[in-house]
Amino acid sequence: MEEDKNFKDLGICEQLAEACDNLGWKIPTKIQAEAIPHALEGKDLIGLAQTGSGKTGAFALPILQSLLESPQAFFACVLSPTRELAIQIAEHFEALGACIGVKCAVLVGGIDRVQQTNNLANRPHIIVGTPGRLVDHLSNTKGFSLRTLKYLVLDEADRLLNEDFEKPINEILNVIPRERRTYLFSATMTSKVKKLQRACLRNPVKIEAASKYSTVDTLKQQFCLLPAKYKECYLVYILTEMSGCTSMVFTRTCDATLFLAMMLRHLGLRAIPINGKMTQSKRSGALNQFKAGECNILICTDVASRGLDIELVDMVINYDIPTSYKLYNHRVGRTARAGRSGVAVSLVNQYEWEWFVQIENDIGRQHMPFVW
Ligand code: AMP
Repeated sequence: MEEDKNFKDLGICEQLAEACDNLGWKIPTKIQAEAIPHALEGKDLIGLAQTGSGKTGAFALPILQSLLESPQAFFACVLSPTRELAIQIAEHFEALGACIGVKCAVLVGGIDRVQQTNNLANRPHIIVGTPGRLVDHLSNTKGFSLRTLKYLVLDEADRLLNEDFEKPINEILNVIPRERRTYLFSATMTSKVKKLQRACLRNPVKIEAASKYSTVDTLKQQFCLLPAKYKECYLVYILTEMSGCTSMVFTRTCDATLFLAMMLRHLGLRAIPINGKMTQSKRSGALNQFKAGECNILICTDVASRGLDIELVDMVINYDIPTSYKLYNHRVGRTARAGRSGVAVSLVNQYEWEWFVQIENDIGRQHMPFVW
């Protein structure tokens, strides 16, 4: 029944329902259908949703609707663990809120502070940021405070807490009003997330849009067992065979992204690296080239495994096997998004086989051999 409801049936106003329609969102996704009615009733939310589930819309729409009813500057703040995800969330707010003239500011590290300060002087409605840079502005930017904040969103909360953001998050919680709505979204529910939930949510409604740690059904998961010394060779072979596809290749180290991208480019493939050691402008540049289709192979570390929404990634290659099933799910979640199909291929060498079997056990699913 829920699947048949449209955005207006969920209580979303005409203007925003039209904005969804313009983005091609005809029917709410499961997390949206379940979260939005509770959010519009003014409840706190905990959303457990897999990547690609449409969770950004699930929190952005109720916030925008509430903003429309009582417009004010510094209305909502969204915290994200990565810069790219923050930029992407702001893009969602801007696209959905264009019809109501919403103003957003992105506060992330690696980008000119002065420009961000100027944006804050514009008194934006929505702030999206990484915790460290937000605290930096709260302490150093004159006239900027979140004392009148109405909504706080913690996106990818499991990661927010893993990355030692605990201190800045506590600082933020100390300077925002207690009287507010809080939405916490996480792909996985860890003990730290539970602790945070107890500390900053009030009688939240819990919504689970996916069974724990599962990957979507439209994702074909395959593996290829090979000797360590031939990995590069196999990678080149797969990418050449699938040269019409858009692919993301995950490696364990920053250096490996540079090396593989250089090697593939020498062989005439359109590859580009992205990793956490690159400057923010280089990272954004690489991502934009990939999104625009100028390069169809993104070689990345796990900096790109979380939350990034890149349209039409056909294939994810695990060049190095990730160290946990959670990372595995975040990586393969870059493809087969929003109902589309996708392939994930894991290149497993003799040393990684045991980890790989452990991942299969944890996700409760066996992979098919890669078919050449
Ligand atoms: P998210 O999980 O928020 O990163 O969203 C994943 C992708 O799904 C994004 O490309 C969204 O634009 C898209 N999306 C979100 N909601 C819907 C919807 N109701 N119908 C179709 N696509 C959607």
